[in-house]
Amino acid sequence: MEEKHCTSCKKKVANDPGNVIFACPSCGKYEVVRCSRCRVDAVTFKCPSCGFEGPN
Ligand SMILES: [Zn+2]
Ligand SMILES: [Zn+2]
Repeated sequence: MEEKHCTSCKKKVANDPGNVIFACPSCGKYEVVRCSRCRVDAVTFKCPSCGFEGPN
């Protein structure tokens, strides 16, 4: 089992039913993980592959 961690806050999202995982909208190479809290708070994430920053 691979453990997923929120890209923004590094929290484990395994037990977070509101988490979302999607490919970076810019480069599509990096898998962005967002926990429910960071989604609600609109915390920004940054793609380590291309540097893209975004709220979703
Ligand atoms: Zn988070
Ligand atoms: Zn990217």
